[in-house]
Amino acid sequence: MRTGIITGLVRYSDFRSKSPVIIPILGDQGFLPRRDPDWLKLAPTQDKAFILMGGAAHISHVLDDNKPGYSERFKGLRLFFNVTLAYHVSQNSSSGTQVIMPSAHEAHSALEKLPKVELHCHLEACFRRQTMMALGASLGLDAPQNVKEFCAEWLLTEPEKNLAVALQKFSNIQSVWANESIIERLTYEACEYGYNQGIKIFELRYSPDFIAAGHPELTFDKIHRAIVAGIERASHLDIAVGLIGIVQKTLPTKQAAYTGDFIAAHNDTFVGIDMADQDIGDEIMRFAPIIEKARAAGLHFTTHAGEEPVPDAPRHVYEAIEHLGAERIGHGIHIIRDSAVMDYVIEKGVMLEVCPTSNWLTSSVPSTAEHPVRRLMEAGVQVSINSDDPGLFDIDLCHEYALMQSEHNFSVAEFDRCNDLAASHSFIAPERKQAVWPRPIE
Ligand SMILES: [Zn+2]
Repeated sequence: MRTGIITGLVRYSDFRSKSPVIIPILGDQGFLPRRDPDWLKLAPTQDKAFILMGGAAHISHVLDDNKPGYSERFKGLRLFFNVTLAYHVSQNSSSGTQVIMPSAHEAHSALEKLPKVELHCHLEACFRRQTMMALGASLGLDAPQNVKEFCAEWLLTEPEKNLAVALQKFSNIQSVWANESIIERLTYEACEYGYNQGIKIFELRYSPDFIAAGHPELTFDKIHRAIVAGIERASHLDIAVGLIGIVQKTLPTKQAAYTGDFIAAHNDTFVGIDMADQDIGDEIMRFAPIIEKARAAGLHFTTHAGEEPVPDAPRHVYEAIEHLGAERIGHGIHIIRDSAVMDYVIEKGVMLEVCPTSNWLTSSVPSTAEHPVRRLMEAGVQVSINSDDPGLFDIDLCHEYALMQSEHNFSVAEFDRCNDLAASHSFIAPERKQAVWPRPIE
């Protein structure tokens, strides 16, 4: 028997001729092909790991790109296993050659082990599915206790054609952030999630206004204290966590100024300020005094811009940098359409916080395969790979890396380069981030 781990440029097609095969699939039951019970058996192993068994020819058929009913996401997972496989090969006279991947965990571990930096992750949407299901029920909310129904009703796993449905999902999640003990627990679990993903430098962002909405007993102070307590509870983990405070672009100017003041006043526990929600064009300039105040308090500034595929997207990115002094841009991917803005972003050394699955789910790009991330990177734009809303999207950061590897041919050296740059662009204090990062941060 031969045993080994294949990483790198191994394609699923390399296995097509071998039979039978066992492939560990990371994902949840909703994505598993159960329609062919005769020749497929599912063996649940752990939370996010299932094993799909069948002859190689059958599996090739199931995973065929053209077979209807499988989401982009499943496609990404399939390709992930193309490139990172732990396997055993054995030969016997009755069944011929066997290629057996012994555990999903082994398959996943090569990507998990890469030291990572995550700069763009919304705390409110970074949760364990089981926790969200349990908390939803305990709060008396209409949270399905069946995984498939919960994913369909509460999570965003396909591009939503109906905005009302998408907003309802955000609203469900928001309702669960209902009291201080829940906030502390969810924050702690988010840190633990980051650690388990191999994230060493982890910036979590949240919006005080978003959490406080509909929870009159939750003041900004109570929310922030509970979040900081959750991060402190995770201090035994080898991970540097930094908080970014969000001012929603949709807020009236007066409320935005109040939130901005709150963030600036807590410059001991925030590392930066961000503006989120949809592009509002030139109206963004009304936030200039808020950003100025935060900067004077020693906070860094990033902003969501160039996320939506609108004609002015490149200009929004330009203005956020030129007029508001953004050091990083959340998304910003649509600068790909404007070479002058791309040159400007490169010249300014501004990093784009790229979130591939998020961009597909919000219809910013038609598919993750068509994401401009590689073109941006090859043009010289600094990019980092992020998950945005992992709990809500039912993904994790390793899933995004898997997509980059399978659909955009990212090599380990390219991941390392993106992560070293992201470490350098992280708003966390130099000595704190260097203490957890394996290579010198420039
Ligand atoms: Zn975001």
